[in-house]
Amino acid sequence: MPADFEKLILASGMASCDPKQLGPWATLIETTLERFRRLSDSRSAAHATAAHQIAIGYSDDNDFNAFADTIQGEDIIAIAQNVPISLALLFKRAMLFRGIMPWVGKFDDSHVDPEPITAEDILFALDNRPPHPPGELDELRTKLAHLMTGIALDFVFLHEMGHVWNGHTSLFRNRYGLRLTEIERGKKVPLSPIDRQTLEMDADCYAGRLMATYPTPEKDWLPVNPGWEKEFGEGSTFLIIRNFAIYLAMRCFNDAASLENIENSNYPPVALRQYFVMGTWFAALNKDTGRDQAELIRLALPIIGAGELSFSLLTGNPIDDSGVKLAYSAEGIEYATGLLRNWAKLHPDLDPLKRGGTLAPVQF
Ligand SMILES: [Zn+2]
Repeated sequence: MPADFEKLILASGMASCDPKQLGPWATLIETTLERFRRLSDSRSAAHATAAHQIAIGYSDDNDFNAFADTIQGEDIIAIAQNVPISLALLFKRAMLFRGIMPWVGKFDDSHVDPEPITAEDILFALDNRPPHPPGELDELRTKLAHLMTGIALDFVFLHEMGHVWNGHTSLFRNRYGLRLTEIERGKKVPLSPIDRQTLEMDADCYAGRLMATYPTPEKDWLPVNPGWEKEFGEGSTFLIIRNFAIYLAMRCFNDAASLENIENSNYPPVALRQYFVMGTWFAALNKDTGRDQAELIRLALPIIGAGELSFSLLTGNPIDDSGVKLAYSAEGIEYATGLLRNWAKLHPDLDPLKRGGTLAPVQF
């Protein structure tokens, strides 16, 4: 199947991004696209559908957004050019705080932490153009910022891949003649909110499942956190950092940790989405590597702790435990169980449309 991004993005009524217009960001745009294509192609090959290609590219959109679509049998994923740039600036800014990942690299005595900015300025860096943080990072902290940017971007991409591989885009197209677009402020989709939230949960879990064991960039340069390695076993530093990167990127949505008004939302609350990603990731590690389940569950603590501390430093807001309280509350668990039940109801609509997807067997 041909993967003609230009043709498909025009058919979607959008325009592609021209990396040349983005000056110093062109390299980030180009290298991440190559990585997305490799991830996508290896998925197709692993499912014996090597000829299947998704057309992948960036749109010239300045929102924190992405979309996936299936147009006449051809699949497309487009990510807004703002996303990689905002993420790169987010992780650079984060690494300029002494208190974030304090065991990695070092600072001059004269170093001053950046001034806080709003979560909205973090997410919409191309439009809002918040001040660049002052100060320089040493080589290690620079590498870590790049690593976390890549991990968060992989998550965005694989979430979209989940929408394609698990049949969501085909369902949208066939039933409503629509592309499946992420966060469209103020726009309503005809799918019921609970169905849409279920598909978003499914895409988050798809990404978390894949990221648990997919090939990662080499990391020999990364110093380990001795406390984490001692408490959670060898390799825990890298595992925590990857989950932290996704947790922090999602945290910047600064979403209310509440189920109030959930009937008007396209997404589960971010605190629950973070919980779905970690939960799926840990369950996959347990299944694939035999790693101890109870130890993995405790690993959520340093991830949430580092994520909430970082968000608090970046934005100047107090540390907030309402997300973790919601995720572990009876109400939060009941809501997540409801989405799983609903997924079982949607399953027959998704199953015939998937092309080698990874839909789990229905358990309800
Ligand atoms: Zn989505």
